[in-house]
Amino acid sequence: MCSTCGCGEGEVRMTTLDDTATTQTHGHDHHGNHDHDHHHHDQDHDTGGPRTHTLDLEIAVLAKNDRLAADNRAWLADRKVAALNLMSSPGAGKTTLLERTIAASDRAVTVIEGDQETLFDAERIRTAGARAVQVNTGAGCHLDATMVAAALQRLQPETGSLLVVENVGNLVCPALFDLGETRKVVVISVTEGDDKPLKYPHMFAAADLVVVNKTDLLPYVDFDLERLETDARTLNPQVRVLALSARTGDRFDDWLGWLAAL
Ligand code: MG
Ligand code: ZN
Repeated sequence: MCSTCGCGEGEVRMTTLDDTATTQTHGHDHHGNHDHDHHHHDQDHDTGGPRTHTLDLEIAVLAKNDRLAADNRAWLADRKVAALNLMSSPGAGKTTLLERTIAASDRAVTVIEGDQETLFDAERIRTAGARAVQVNTGAGCHLDATMVAAALQRLQPETGSLLVVENVGNLVCPALFDLGETRKVVVISVTEGDDKPLKYPHMFAAADLVVVNKTDLLPYVDFDLERLETDARTLNPQVRVLALSARTGDRFDDWLGWLAAL
C-alpha cells in the first residue's frame, strides 16, 4: 500500500467552508510509527526479516482503519445520513458531478473534500450551495477513517442528508481504506481510456457503482463503453455502470435516481 506508493507522513490540514473559514492543523500519524507495542512485538518475534515486518505494520494500519470506519458508519447511521466515498483519477470530473448533484438534489448535501493541497474544490462546492470541509493530506494520497471522523465533527451533517466524501484523485490506495461510507463510487472519464478496470482491479472490485463521465466527448476519443462494462463486471459481477455527462447533464437522471434509492 502506501509505503510503496509514495504516500508519506506529513501534516493533514482541515478547513471548514461555511459562514466562517477556520483552519486547524492535525498531526498525521496513520502511516508508520504510531503503534510502538506492535513494533516491539515484531522485533522480538519476527523471523521473516524487514519485509514481513512492513507487511505486519500495514495490516495493523488497515485493521485500525477498519475499526474507526465502523465507528463512522454507526455515527452516520444514527443520523440517517447516506454517505458516498467518491473515487477517481485526478480530473475525471468528481467535483463537476457534485456541483450538478447539489443543484439538482432536493435533500441537503454536505461534502468532505480530499486533496493534497488547495481549497479549490471546497470553494466550488460552497459556491454550488453546499457546506464543505476541505481535508488537505499534504504528502498523503488517500483519505482514511480518522480524517473523515475529524471532518464529520466539524461538518455535522443534517439528519437524513447526503454526505459525499470526495477522495484524493488516485485509483490505487483509496480502494484499501474503508471510510464508513454507505457506497463506494468510482468515476472514470472517457478521456482516460477503457482499460482502467483491468489496470486498477482493486478499485473496480471494491466499487458499488461505476460512473463513466464525459460522454459528451465520446465522438472524439477511442473509448469502448461495452468493453469497460464487461471488464468491470468480470471483476465485480454486482457493480452498476452509469454513463453520463456531468457537464452537459446527459443521462444525469440515472445518477439522481440511483442516489434517491440510497
Ligand atoms: Mg475534485
Ligand atoms: Zn495512500
